[in-house]
Amino acid sequence: EKKLAILTSGGDAPGMNAAIRATAKIAESCGFEVYGIRRGYLGMLNDEIFLMTGRFVSGIIDKGGTVLLTARSEEFKQARFREIAANNLKKKGINYLVVIGGDGSYRGANLLYKEYGIKVVGIPGTIDNDIYGTDYTLGFDTCLNTILDAMSKIRDTATSHERTILIQVMGRHAGDLALHACIAGGGDGIMIPEMDNPIEMLALQLKERRKNGKLHDIVLVAEGVGNVLDIEKKLRGHINSEIRSVVLGYIQRGGTPSGFDRVLASRMAAKAIEVLNNGEAGVMVGIEKNEMVTHPLDEVDSTEKRKSIEKDYELALLLSK
Ligand code: ATP
Repeated sequence: EKKLAILTSGGDAPGMNAAIRATAKIAESCGFEVYGIRRGYLGMLNDEIFLMTGRFVSGIIDKGGTVLLTARSEEFKQARFREIAANNLKKKGINYLVVIGGDGSYRGANLLYKEYGIKVVGIPGTIDNDIYGTDYTLGFDTCLNTILDAMSKIRDTATSHERTILIQVMGRHAGDLALHACIAGGGDGIMIPEMDNPIEMLALQLKERRKNGKLHDIVLVAEGVGNVLDIEKKLRGHINSEIRSVVLGYIQRGGTPSGFDRVLASRMAAKAIEVLNNGEAGVMVGIEKNEMVTHPLDEVDSTEKRKSIEKDYELALLLSK
């Protein structure tokens, strides 16, 4: 008998529920018995594994967060605890696992695959878009739209008071959110961890804008660049306008998933089950050039081999002038 478990791990992201739903439905239609694991690897360790009925996934496609709950588990990084977790799966006869999460979650999944032969597939669920092997991660589009909404509101004050406002958005290693928000929201400056971001260059750009008659500036700062208040302090020495900073924080992670994220979640889930049905495992699914693809979990690295963002950076700079 084919038994498959689903878990969500790492930071929550809108679209995780849509992925849980689609995975459960498609797996069931392919003859799998479907289990849910609460609290990611922590729940696997604590045996929070339950038979998932169809009812569990009904009415969740439009809900943010994850109904399976998510957690982080330091213990799971140790072999002796992983053995307990793997045994909890084995004693229920579960030999297939779909992991929805970020690159850390994939590392754990890869170990379960290699050490215990559990047939795992990863689905990239994280707002940061910082996973190698996929053009988009689940939650990125929803988060981008949340940021754009906030930008419009913040711009009202920036304009009325003629201020320079720095908006710190999520993205520890990847500037994608800041970059896309800058392009789509008409941002006036950008700082991302992939680039050097000399404060003098930003200051020059902002001064130039004011010379050209612009009355306000909105600058997108990815959190990976550093504390936005420190950046504000540095910028004060260079420009005369009043500066304020906003940290958007957790509102970026929540909310109803966009249509794009729901479709992406469903397509990724379908690919994950297709892969397992074909006898493949130890891979993550992704979307590249609008095609569903897979990459070995061994290759996944959030920082080293990511897609190039230089063209988008140039575009953002050009449009922000
Ligand atoms: P996000 O980037 O959205 O936070 P993530 O999946 O990268 O998502 P992490 O906190 O890095 O989040 O990882 C989630 C969990 O995966 C960890 O708490 C841990 O249980 C497991 N994990 C991470 N790295 C490893 C590793 N090297 N070996 C075994 N398990 C790991």
